[in-house]
Amino acid sequence: MSLESRPVTTQAGVGRALAARLARLGVETVQDLLFLLPIRYEDRTRIVPIGALVPGARAAVAGTIELAEVVFRRRRVLLLRLADGTGFLTLRFFHFNASQQQQLARGTRLRCFGEIRRGPLGLEIVHPEYRLADLPDAQAVEGALTPVYPATEGVQQGRLRMLTAQALGALANDPLPDWLPPELLREPGLPGLRAALEYLHRPPPDAAIELLQAGRHPAQRRLAFEELLAQQLALRRLREEIRRDPGWPIQVPGALAARLLEQLGFPLTGAQRRVAGEISADLASGHPMLRLVQGDVGSGKTVVAALAAVAAIEAGCQVALMAPTELLAEQHARNFSRWLRPLGIETLLLSARITGRARQGAREAIAAGSHPFVIGTHALFQERVGFARLALVIVDEQHRFGVQQRLALRDKGASGGRYPHQLIMTATPIPRTLAMTAYADLDVSVIDELPPGRTPVRTVVLPDSRRDDVVARIRRACLAGRQAYWVCPLIEESELLEAQAAEDTAAALAAALPELKVGLVHGRMPAAAKEQAMSRFRAGEIGLLVATTVIEVGVDVPNASLMVIENAERMGLAQLHQLRGRVGRGAEASSCLLLYRAPLSPLARARLSVLRATSDGFEVARRDLELRGPGELLGTRQTGLLQLKVADLLRDADLLPRVREAADVMLAAHPANIAPLTRRWIGAGGRYGKV
Ligand code: ADP
Ligand code: MG
Repeated sequence: MSLESRPVTTQAGVGRALAARLARLGVETVQDLLFLLPIRYEDRTRIVPIGALVPGARAAVAGTIELAEVVFRRRRVLLLRLADGTGFLTLRFFHFNASQQQQLARGTRLRCFGEIRRGPLGLEIVHPEYRLADLPDAQAVEGALTPVYPATEGVQQGRLRMLTAQALGALANDPLPDWLPPELLREPGLPGLRAALEYLHRPPPDAAIELLQAGRHPAQRRLAFEELLAQQLALRRLREEIRRDPGWPIQVPGALAARLLEQLGFPLTGAQRRVAGEISADLASGHPMLRLVQGDVGSGKTVVAALAAVAAIEAGCQVALMAPTELLAEQHARNFSRWLRPLGIETLLLSARITGRARQGAREAIAAGSHPFVIGTHALFQERVGFARLALVIVDEQHRFGVQQRLALRDKGASGGRYPHQLIMTATPIPRTLAMTAYADLDVSVIDELPPGRTPVRTVVLPDSRRDDVVARIRRACLAGRQAYWVCPLIEESELLEAQAAEDTAAALAAALPELKVGLVHGRMPAAAKEQAMSRFRAGEIGLLVATTVIEVGVDVPNASLMVIENAERMGLAQLHQLRGRVGRGAEASSCLLLYRAPLSPLARARLSVLRATSDGFEVARRDLELRGPGELLGTRQTGLLQLKVADLLRDADLLPRVREAADVMLAAHPANIAPLTRRWIGAGGRYGKV
């Protein structure tokens, strides 16, 4: 049986219990074991003279026990003094048995390894790994750097080293197929598969350990390249496959779209018209659309989505809109009702407030097809809401909507043997190479023009010692009939702490500004209270709205022209840009004050000045990418945008253009290699992996 399918249980020493624990690391076959790569390395190939040790490092030392004693502190401790002629080192054991105590006697020669720390008696190692240096089988040193594998409960490092050693032995006899043709590896100068795996599991003593620790070694890049290529091919296959599935053919433009345009009160921008045209072509094709619409905050994505929605409704179908927060769902419900009611279309907001019997009733009505337009948060699809004729799903402000979520949405939304069109809208601009990697299954449209008459937001960066001036400025703005937001610090660890901080801030500002009405919204408030605060703010009854970042996306109150953001240095640039997009929506000149807590690091200063310098979201994203990498923009590995094992979109960004070219080569010249390659990296589970 090939290593690709040979179960780990065929390896010596792997029983049922160990196999179950390995399965938790995703290891089921010998191939999986070979792709379980070390997370770091230790250098035990060199014995370091004790006199040259530095605290904090992990090092191998050798010496003779000069002193051994058991002392009684709060508990028994075995203390050894190890000397090698260049100095001495203390070894400290809290757990030891009688035979160890006997073995570790004065005069014994030891080799040991561990983390060097500063202790009460000078440098020491607590619980070193050790070996008696005089035993016949003790080689002088290790022949390779020692790999450290990702830990899982009940599988020791020693066991993993033994298992990978066996797997490497198997690999030597029975090489894994290298699905990448040599011509793809030659130019980037990457090694073949077997060489890469052998190197990474047992790097030679002279390996560039810094390069390995940074994940930038050619052997690592070879695997990252292969993984990114597998992802790219799987997404492209998926894209082709989905475009052959039956969808709902919808003719655009219809009469309703024309009536909607008439009553808007403004003409579409050129960019809106172009993107609406791209969507129309997709809708009419008879196959499911999968389209990402990128457009800076305020570029008018909602109208474009509404045009698609009315076309689907006119064709007798249902439309669902999913928003990331209740707040945004409520706002969409209000806007869409205003636009659609005159056309005779009712919208249903399936908010968290509709519960029990009412919710059950709403669900039944949706399943019967009697609601053409349903708005909700993502919970809408998590609970079992079945639609009768769902032709279009609009996903608003969700750039972290990964391929698995798109697929789940597609499958759950299927009705009448057809799959719904998906329109995903985001204000987070994603640089082209990244978009083409993470969204290779999507078509992308860009609304790259703002409606006319917007004045750019003036952005100022201030230390929070200037708080009093800022409060005075809010007073002036609000007394002049304008409105303001105060955004409280982001506390990622705890929504509760964040809410408390917001409440305290609101109370303090209300006390400092007795002449103003101060409102509050945060994530822990009941939906009704949130909505009430928002509607009073919208109506102008509240002058200053204190909020957490719940108002980050979508909130649209044109009279608000001043925004204060506290602890701006703690937030990402993309997020700050989003927040800032809440002002500058009306005719009034707007300002955004970014407060920071001094001292500001040079990087933080550079980041905040990007916002001062530009109001173009794509430019912000580009600079952010330069300064911090795509982690913040796309979320890290865990967010599910692309589930990567070895590659890292930030670290390996320079490989991406080559990955796309390589995908073209694979499709044209090596189509038979594609299925086994994607199976290796993505697995056979689910439609995405199957290709
Ligand atoms: P976003 O792209 O951030 O979702 P919205 O769709 O909320 O932006 O639009 C922002 C504001 O601009 C809304 O008040 C909307 O009515 C208005 N708007 C949209 N398109 C135009 C246009 N072509 N001309 C003038 N105003 C527009
Ligand atoms: Mg929007």
